[in-house]
Amino acid sequence: MKYKPADKIQDLQYFGEFGGVNPSISDSSTYTFLSAKTMFDTFEGNAEGCYLYSRHSSPSNLYLGEALAAMEATESATVTASGMGAITPVLLQLCDSGDHIISSRTIYGGTYAFMKNFLPRLGIETSFVDITKIEAVEAVITLQTKVIFCETVSNPLLEIANLTALAQLAKKHNLQLVVDNTFSPLSISPAQLGAAVVIHSLTKFINGSSDTVGGVVCASAEFIDQLRNVNDGACMLLGSTMDSMRSASVLKNLRTLHIRMHKHSENAMYLAEQLEALGLKTVYPGLKSHKGNALYQEMMNEEYGFGGMLTLDVGSLDKANTLMELMQERNLGYLAVSLGFYKTLFSAPGSSTSSEIPEEEQQEMGLSDGLIRFSIGLDNHIDRTFQMMKTCMEEVGIL
Ligand SMILES: *Cc1c(COP(=O)(O)O)cnc(C)c1O
Repeated sequence: MKYKPADKIQDLQYFGEFGGVNPSISDSSTYTFLSAKTMFDTFEGNAEGCYLYSRHSSPSNLYLGEALAAMEATESATVTASGMGAITPVLLQLCDSGDHIISSRTIYGGTYAFMKNFLPRLGIETSFVDITKIEAVEAVITLQTKVIFCETVSNPLLEIANLTALAQLAKKHNLQLVVDNTFSPLSISPAQLGAAVVIHSLTKFINGSSDTVGGVVCASAEFIDQLRNVNDGACMLLGSTMDSMRSASVLKNLRTLHIRMHKHSENAMYLAEQLEALGLKTVYPGLKSHKGNALYQEMMNEEYGFGGMLTLDVGSLDKANTLMELMQERNLGYLAVSLGFYKTLFSAPGSSTSSEIPEEEQQEMGLSDGLIRFSIGLDNHIDRTFQMMKTCMEEVGIL
């Protein structure tokens, strides 16, 4: 039986003051105590249900965290001010100076830059590998290795990580498997497959309205407590806290995630099939031609499909830019980074979101100049969208 993440979210029930159908927003940075003893206990982490200070926790953030923990089938979760505000404290909590990380080489540009340029300043080194080759991962494990890091569906190449195999490898060598599941919420449940920590940028599909940045770490209660510890917790001390107003608004958007993911996936699948049939170099995990298609099917919670992300290689950066400008002019979407919006978003990752990765490395991993990354929107008639896209491609000389 596969996990039913949307049902788990739906089963949680919260009421606001006066019987409000949404939980009340906690509009406070600090909380009063009736007794000084309870304040002391709360500092020590021993007063369940008491709030101290909103950088540590707040009712609104706990509601959202609880819903996301239910979604990811983990004991607990903590929400953060951004996706990077979730990734960086997790790595800093798990690694000391002298430790080693193994990471997929195809990851979000900001995560790559943090591991490559920032962590060495603290004496933490990262080996970047082809995560689809389990032998390649095992080959670089050393006694200093603490973490295996990957994205379920990688950005921007849409490679699929074998989370079950990586989790077994992590277990064998006593490592923590940390998975960024931003591209595949609901569709894949990494903790069910053995991941120790699951991270999302809430900025993308989960919030879905491109009006905020946000993040979450889903993990064991023990690890989440460590992150929030007042003495040595990276979330608490680095201070990437989400604001209560925002967490309340993200929680409301989370309510429609299952409907949105279904539509994003349906539209992306339709476009991928049509574009491939025209002979265009199309990459989408739902296509039979995708190397990770069978693996994705094995891991997925079927009803949510293969997600909203697809890439198209149109041959050159010039053609990619002309096509994107024309599609924006015809209102088929926006030339913008980010993903998970109701409207289709497109960008050329080589010169934008992955520009942190040096050009030679981009080539080596197959990130070509003419690659366009699409986050497919919620268009009501995707066949009509496709016809209009086709016309644009003909005008630009791609077809
Ligand atoms: C956007 C993104 C991030 C970073 O999230 P922010 O909310 O922008 O900090 C991390 N990982 C992936 C896969 C992303 O797409």
